[in-house]
Amino acid sequence: MKFNSDSAEIFVPDGLSSEAALARTTHMAIRAHQDDIEIMAAGPIVECFQKTDRWFTGVVVTDGRGSPRDGLYANFSDEEMHAVRFKEQRKAALVGEYAAQVLLDYPSKIAKDGRNRQPVEDLVALFRIARPKVVYTHNLADKHDTHVGVALKVIAALRSLPAVERPEKLYGCEVWRDLDWMVDSDKIAFNLTEHESLQAALLGVFDSQIAGGKRYDLASMGRRRAHATYFESHGVDLATGLTYAMDLTPLIVQTDLEITPFVQEVIQRFAQDVTDRLNRVG
Ligand SMILES: [Zn+2]
Repeated sequence: MKFNSDSAEIFVPDGLSSEAALARTTHMAIRAHQDDIEIMAAGPIVECFQKTDRWFTGVVVTDGRGSPRDGLYANFSDEEMHAVRFKEQRKAALVGEYAAQVLLDYPSKIAKDGRNRQPVEDLVALFRIARPKVVYTHNLADKHDTHVGVALKVIAALRSLPAVERPEKLYGCEVWRDLDWMVDSDKIAFNLTEHESLQAALLGVFDSQIAGGKRYDLASMGRRRAHATYFESHGVDLATGLTYAMDLTPLIVQTDLEITPFVQEVIQRFAQDVTDRLNRVG
């Protein structure tokens, strides 16, 4: 496969050819940065783990050169940081037994430039080979520009495909800003009760970010536990870990559906829920 960036790569943990590895994909997550996949797409990783009929492929759009660094990594150059972050992402793919891990290697300024179509072209090529049933990307209410930029490129790529080649579902998941605020009927919940130690291992390989002073490992596991407990105020916890996603499927079924009003409607349902409760008990 040829991508726009010469330094893009496809890593296949079990050594299959890259085309065969991609072709077995059933679940695909497309994220901005190294470690975003393991923070937000633990649901499909666990669902595909050790299965023969379900395969998870991860795609990371940016190059990791601008990553924050501290401690052991404080004096690393951008090039060294790039190498470390690619190595960490490959380690996660091994731990999680991914079908393949694609690293598109774009500077983040390209990922958040709405006029640059290069990542969209790469994603179209990947979708054509992988034909995933379910696609996971960032949610459209995330507070990180690069995350929202990647989600918009995923939507643009999927919309350009013929309807029969699009996935059945597109989900927008949580990293920067969780989705607890959405009304329950809007929440897509992934049960992460099982394989807790595998989830922790997937987060733990990203030492350069965790050692840099951000405990994404503890925060992500804590968020999953908090979601499980606070999901339902009556009754006991049925799950010990949950992550949430926004269902973005309508945006790839109805390709002329405007994106901003679609997200505003989700926000309006939350606003209405708050107003209704105040009126009810006030
Ligand atoms: Zn990120």
